Formats: sequence, structure tokens, C-alpha cells
Amino acid sequence: MTKPTRNDDQPVWGFSTLSVHAGEARQKPAYAITDPILCAATFTFENTDAVIEFLEKKIPRGEYARYGTPAEATVEKKLAALEGGQEAVLYSSGMAAIVGLLLAKLNSGDEVVFFDECYHRSREFCVRHLSRFGVVTHQVPACDYDAMERAINPRTRLLISESPTNPHLSVVDLERFAAIGRKHGIETLIDATLATPYNVRPLEYGVDYVLHSATKYLGGHNDLLAGVIVGSSEKLAPVRKLRGLLGSISSAHTVYLLERGLKTFALRMERHNANGQAVAEFLASHPRIERVYYPGLPSHPYHEVARRTMRGFGGLVTFLVKDADWRETARIVDRVTIPRIAPSLGGVESLIEQPLVMSYYECSPEDRKRFGIPDNMIRLSCGVENAEDLIADLQQALA
Ligand SMILES: *Cc1c(COP(=O)(O)O)cnc(C)c1O
Repeated sequence: MTKPTRNDDQPVWGFSTLSVHAGEARQKPAYAITDPILCAATFTFENTDAVIEFLEKKIPRGEYARYGTPAEATVEKKLAALEGGQEAVLYSSGMAAIVGLLLAKLNSGDEVVFFDECYHRSREFCVRHLSRFGVVTHQVPACDYDAMERAINPRTRLLISESPTNPHLSVVDLERFAAIGRKHGIETLIDATLATPYNVRPLEYGVDYVLHSATKYLGGHNDLLAGVIVGSSEKLAPVRKLRGLLGSISSAHTVYLLERGLKTFALRMERHNANGQAVAEFLASHPRIERVYYPGLPSHPYHEVARRTMRGFGGLVTFLVKDADWRETARIVDRVTIPRIAPSLGGVESLIEQPLVMSYYECSPEDRKRFGIPDNMIRLSCGVENAEDLIADLQQALA
């Protein structure tokens, strides 16, 4: 297996050191310890020769902010270092990153195959919109590698999966997934938003592109939207070029917040992992709970793969309430006092939701059944509060 090339100028540090220092200049403007929030839409040239020098790539510098800014380059370097990849391309949201990659890589007549447990908006973009440009999407059951291979034909260009999947937390055997791609000469993409590079680094298994909604754990504070794709510079060159046309870029303020949030990334992940595990174990032992989906539990169907490939299992815990209809399930959601009812996950504040209501309200019962969303399902994103408090809160909500 080929290991990814690290950023050449990046020493091999531990995760917390990378979170704090990677990508940043040692000496910054005005001797400040932080990078500035640089609000510039354009960058000036001293004279015509300076423009030409820039165009001939003799000096690295900014031109027009849609093509990139120095602050964005810093945070991209930090993200690439955390993921162990050569380069990162930052987007204005996770969806913008997915759309940006698909549009850069696919032509009319091409086909993509993806595991069907996935963020419903990614599925919607492929099925509703890529189809309008003549791209064919095949969905196969999550972690069914034989079905994925059967769906491949000479027009297949990209294999896509999340890992772990949302909200079922199925864990993909990345080595196997990447091997299918290599065998057929097809590129592979993992949306590792739920795992984060702290828990697994898909590039190390030979996956071509890793994608994150940085809105979640990477930003970590429920205060920004961003997305990122990490991979080799060569493969990402056309992706970055297209982003410059699409304009799906982040504001200076967002870039600052993301760099700031990433400083505590490794610390936060330790707590998210610990809280997720503790809450999952509590729920698994509770008589009112029918089933818990959490890769850190031995009862989880993908526990072995998860243990082999992941450092921790994250903060997201999905569970089913025994003998509860949708109303009784909603009452439990309404009774918790610490987690807030909201979509999203991965921030310092715990968030709780009933997928039936929050994300699948407009779906027919047949579609919900097909997507595996029962009425009595609750999804809890454990924040960084104290596990005892979260558990006591769930205890009273379930009483
Ligand atoms: C939230 C999410 C996205 C979309 O990201 P946004 O930043 O909300 O656009 C994509 N994939 C997964 C797994 C997500 O959780």
C-alpha cells in the first residue's frame, strides 16, 4: 500500500501539535501570534512587471480572492497536515465541496457508484441534479463490496462512501474499498466527516479523496459552515481550478474561526470519543432502548472493522426506543435538558434530533423504510460536556 506524501515542509508531529501549529507561519504580520482576518477581495500589484512575474508563477501571492487568499492557504495546509495528505481545498460548505469535486471529475455519460447510507443531500444532488447532466448514479447497500463491484462498468469514474455512515454509523473497510477502485482503475472518495482525521485517515488506505463537512468536528463550535477535500496535488488541481470559477469560497471571518477552532481539534476529539463511548454504553444497558448504533460497541455489526481502523468512534450515537411510536420518541427528545434540538453534529454543544422529523419529514413511509429511518430513532451528537451530566439527563428523559 502506498503511503501518502506528507507536506514536504511539515515535520511529523502528534495530533495536538499539528492542530495548534501545522500550516502556520512562525512569524506573522505585526508579530501577532494569530493570523489576521484579512478582508481583501483583491490584491494589488506594484507595476505591470509584477503582474507578469505573478502570471509566470515566479512569485507566489494572491491575485483575486475567489482564487484563494493567504489565510485560506494557511488553514488548508493545517487540514492537509492533519489528514496526512499533500493538499487540501477549502469550500464554503461540505455540500459545496461534494458538488465541486463531482463537477470537476465527471462528464456526461460517466457513472458513479455509492453506498446508500449517506447524507441525504449528497444523494439528492447525485440523483436529482447530476442526472440532468447525463451522469448516472448507482446506489448499492452500504458495505456490500460485491454489490459495489457488480455495479461497476467501463463508464464508472468514481466510487463514493461515507465512513462511518450517517445516521447508522456503518464503518467501511477502507482497504477493501480502495482496492476495488484500484483494481478497476476508478477513483475513490470517502466522506469522513463523522470520523475526522483524528479517528481515521482514509488516504493511508489508498483512498484518493477524503472529504469533510468542516462545519462539524473540524470547526467544532457550531458557528461556521465549511467543507474540505484532501488528496494529492495532482488530482486536486482541476478541482481547485473549478472552485475558482464556482466561487464556493469562505469569508475571511470563517477562515479565521476555522483556524481558531482547529487549535483544540485533538483535545475536543478525545472528549467527543469518550462521551460517545460512555453514552453508547449507558444506552445499550438501558431497558427502554431497543438498539444502539455505535461502532465502539461490540454489538455493532462493524465493530471489528472499526477497532482495526479507528482510533476512537466519535461523538455520534444513534438509538431506537423500545415500543415507542414517533410521538413517544419525540417526547423523549423534548425531555432532555442539556442537548439542544437541532440538525448538525460535531460541535462542543450536544445536539439531539429525531431523524424522522428533522431530516426525513417530507419522505414517504416507504422511502424512510428504504433509507432505514424508523419512527423510534433518535440521533444524539455528544458534545464536550461531562459524560455523567449527559447520562443523568438521558436517564431522566427515559424515566
Ligand atoms: C453535514 C454533512 C455534510 C454537508 O456538509 P455542510 O457543511 O452542511 O454543507 C456532508 N456529509 C456529511 C456526512 C455531513 O454530516
